[in-house]
Amino acid sequence: MKTVYTFVPSPEHVYPDHPERPGRFDLLQPKLKASGAELVEAVPATREEIAYVHHPKLISSVEQVCREEAPGIIDYAPTYVTHSSFEDALLAAGGVLTCARAVLNGDADNAFALVRPPGHHAEPERAMGFCIFNNVAIAARDALAHGMERVAIIDYDAHHGNGTQAAFLDDERVAFVSAHQWGIYPGTGWIEDGPHARKRIVNVPLPAYAGDNIYEQVAEKIFVPFIEAFKPQMIFVSVGFDAHWSDPITMLGLSTAGYLMLAKKVMALAQEYCDGRIVFVLEGGYDPANLANGAEAVFVAATGRGASEANDSNPQKEPDCASRIEEICRWHGF
Ligand SMILES: [Zn+2]
Repeated sequence: MKTVYTFVPSPEHVYPDHPERPGRFDLLQPKLKASGAELVEAVPATREEIAYVHHPKLISSVEQVCREEAPGIIDYAPTYVTHSSFEDALLAAGGVLTCARAVLNGDADNAFALVRPPGHHAEPERAMGFCIFNNVAIAARDALAHGMERVAIIDYDAHHGNGTQAAFLDDERVAFVSAHQWGIYPGTGWIEDGPHARKRIVNVPLPAYAGDNIYEQVAEKIFVPFIEAFKPQMIFVSVGFDAHWSDPITMLGLSTAGYLMLAKKVMALAQEYCDGRIVFVLEGGYDPANLANGAEAVFVAATGRGASEANDSNPQKEPDCASRIEEICRWHGF
């Protein structure tokens, strides 16, 4: 199995006291070196590639704000930009494109794009939620332009992937499932968000403290029938390590073992339906140790080598979530 990865740390994309900071990657380097995966150089996305998802006016306004007004806040989350952020965002999107193309052209079996700024909150016409351009959505459209007919995106960042949902709400070539904590930023992602697209736009709003056991149920009862129904030729995973129980800005309950379980399950789905074509894309995750351990777990699942060394089981009790999962399955006919 050949796994490649891109690494886009964007050290100048930084703002005082902001959780989406270069320090998120502080403990990552040894995990990358030990991963058994091969580093490929990220190539910046072009404006035309960004426009696969985003309105040209957004692209030019982000460029102009970075040139003329940065550093500053461009959205209430708060989402910030610095003088380098436009180029950083092009390279982050390009890092995902580089990974996806390596998988598409057969240079790699699978890939992991470790990039920042993240992307899944960015909507076609606005940057938001610490995200400037929607890296995973851009790469999904690029895969469609390179011969794929159906692409699925599985998002298990702690927050709803509203930007990805907005990009594909009416694009029947892409299916999207998001499992996230209900009631936190950005407030979207309830079960009935895409009534015209049952089985294809799937939201899994979870209660606080949902952890490894609940996520395993979500994977088996929702991710599996979601992929079975859509039969994608390629899977992207928006993986955010902010669903870890000790993340500083959310209240979910995954451990590193839970992240490994999820990565193995989506890998198995890619093997069964997509000839193994899968690209993991980093979204959030605001504790450097959780991010490094979680990335190691993704590499273990992707390469089939090594072991996850973290021992960080969740000390909190998980709530009962069976009726919520049943309700979601009923709504979609899973
Ligand atoms: Zn998040």
